[in-house]
Amino acid sequence: MEFGFSDEQLLLQKTLRQYAKSELLPNYHRWDRGEKFPREKILELGQLGILGLRAPERFGGQDASFVAGGIASEELSRGDFNYSQFIQLSAIAAELLRENASPEVQAEWLPRLASGEALFAFALTEPAVGSDAANLTTRAVKQGDEYVITGEKASITLGGFADVAIVFARTGEAGARGISAFLVPLDRPGITRQVYQSPGERLSARGSLFFDGTRIPARFRLGEEREGFHSAMVSFDFNRAFIALACVGAALQSLDETVEYTKTRQAFGRPLAKFEGVSFQVAEQLTVLEGARLIAYKCLWLKDQGLPHTKESAMSKWLGPKVSVEAIHACILLHGHYGYNQESPLEQRLRDVIGLEIGDGTPEIMKGIVAREVYGREYMSYR
Ligand SMILES: Cc1cc2nc3c(=O)[nH]c(=O)nc-3n(C[C@H](O)[C@H](O)[C@H](O)COP(=O)(O)OP(=O)(O)OC[C@H]3O[C@@H](n4cnc5c(N)ncnc54)[C@H](O)[C@@H]3O)c2cc1C
Repeated sequence: MEFGFSDEQLLLQKTLRQYAKSELLPNYHRWDRGEKFPREKILELGQLGILGLRAPERFGGQDASFVAGGIASEELSRGDFNYSQFIQLSAIAAELLRENASPEVQAEWLPRLASGEALFAFALTEPAVGSDAANLTTRAVKQGDEYVITGEKASITLGGFADVAIVFARTGEAGARGISAFLVPLDRPGITRQVYQSPGERLSARGSLFFDGTRIPARFRLGEEREGFHSAMVSFDFNRAFIALACVGAALQSLDETVEYTKTRQAFGRPLAKFEGVSFQVAEQLTVLEGARLIAYKCLWLKDQGLPHTKESAMSKWLGPKVSVEAIHACILLHGHYGYNQESPLEQRLRDVIGLEIGDGTPEIMKGIVAREVYGREYMSYR
C-alpha cells in the first residue's frame, strides 16, 4: 500500500500551494464583492499548465494523472475555492473531447482549452430537472449536416462568461438513452445568458443558458447519438472527487488559519489553543477531513488504474463538502466575532463551499448511488 505522492506530484502540490497563497488568497474577496474577474487570470492558469491537465501533450496539455488533478483542485482552493471550478470544467471537457470527438475537433479545441483561450462549461441541469437529469427536455434536431438546439440549461457554473459549453440534449426517446452530448460555442446566434444572484461562488457567474434554434455543425456531437448521458456520468465519477478535494482544501486552509489565530488570541490569561475545548475541535475537524481527503484520492487513484470508482466518487462528494462546511463553521466560531466578519475569508468560504453540497449531485443522490452500488439497481427507489 502506498499513500505518498510521487516527486512530480509533490512538486505540483508545493508550487500550487505557494501560488494559491501569494496570488489567489489576497484577491479572494475581490471577485465576491462584485469586481470583474479579469480574463487574463484564466490565461495565466493556462500558462501554469493547470487547464490542460487532462488534455494530451500533443494538444498543449499535460496528460497528467487524475490524482494530479485532485492535487490542483485541493491546493488552488486554499487560495480561492472558485479556481477549482476551472480545473474541474477543463478536465471534464478535455476527457469528453479526447474520448468522444473526432481528431479534427480535438485539434481545433483542445489547444484552446489548455491555453485558457476557450473556457468550457458543462450544461446538463434544466429548470425542471436536476437530480433527475435523465428527463431533460432540451432538444437537438438534426437538419442536414447541422443540429438545431432549443431549450434552457439552468444553474450552469461559468454560465456568465464561458466561451463553449458541453450541452446535453435530447435526440431520441425519453429517459437517459435518448440524450446526446454536443460542443456548443457560446457565440453562436440564438444564445442568451442570465447570471443568478448567488450567495457564494460569485466568481463563477452561475446562470442559465438559453438556446433558441442554435445551429451547430453535426461534427460537434461528442460520441454517438444517445450516448451523452453515459458520458456525463463518467465525468461525474472523477469530478466528484475533485469537488471533495476543493472543499477539503478550503477547510484545511481555514483550520491552518484557526491554529495560528488560537495560538495568539488570549482569553483568561492564556492562548485559546491551551483550552482543550478549542484544540480538540481542531483535532476532530482535521481527523474527519483527512478521512474525506483519503476517500477522494483513493477514488482518483482507482480512476488512474482504470478500476471501478463510482461508489468512492459518490462517497467523496457526499462526505467532502459536508465535513468541510462543518469544519469552516467551527473555524468561524473559534475566531469569535472576528470570524463573523467580512474582513475574514471564513464566511466567504462557508458560502462558497455550501454551493457544492448541491452542485454535481446532492447528498441524497450521492447516498442513493452508494446504496445502489451495495444493494444493486433492483433496490433503487425510483426504478
Ligand atoms: C453551486 C452550483 C453549481 C452548479 N453547477 C452546475 C453546472 O455547472 N452544470 C450543471 O448542469 N448543473 C449545475 N448545477 C446544478 C446541480 O447539479 C443541481 O442543482 C443538482 O443536481 C440538484 O438538482 P436540483 O437543484 O434540480 O434539485 P432537485 O433535484 O429538485 O432536488 C431537490 C431536493 O430533493 C432531493 N431529492 C431529489 N430526488 C431525490 C431522491 N430520489 N431521493 C431523495 N431525495 C431526493 C435532493 O437531494 C434535494 O435535496 C449547479 C448547482 C449549484 C448549486
